[in-house]
Amino acid sequence: METKFIVDTNVGKLAKWLRIMGYDTLFFNGSNDANMIAIALADGRVILTRDTQIMKRRLITSGQLKAVLVMTDEPQQQMRQVIERLNLDCQFRPFALCLECNQPLVERSKEQVKDRVPPYVFQTQSHYMECPARHRIYWRGTHWQAMTSKLKTFANN
Ligand SMILES: [Zn+2]
Repeated sequence: METKFIVDTNVGKLAKWLRIMGYDTLFFNGSNDANMIAIALADGRVILTRDTQIMKRRLITSGQLKAVLVMTDEPQQQMRQVIERLNLDCQFRPFALCLECNQPLVERSKEQVKDRVPPYVFQTQSHYMECPARHRIYWRGTHWQAMTSKLKTFANN
């Protein structure tokens, strides 16, 4: 079964990068650790956090729940640590999940997005996906290419 994550507020930038890799990742922005742990337990999610207190909880020390204590504040180093520690598949799955809200994206035809993307995008791109929750349209533009090449540098070290 594919690894799923819940990312604590203190390592929030990991959420976007894990979604780019196609990993189902929730961002926890509450303040009650017990809620985050309950969600992790219910969904079988790995917790990523900078909080050493969470690591002392019995569910985690007993191995019932998996958690990774992230050792740095620097997002690039954080990604390297998580990829290495969990031996993640660094295959990129662009267009799998919404980077903002983790919803699986839905394919859209060029005609369906005609009035919803800038004209230059419409002229140059033929492949589109949409977030069913927030209706953001995704395509493989220059921003996307920059993100995927940055992710490759995480994986190669
Ligand atoms: Zn979304």
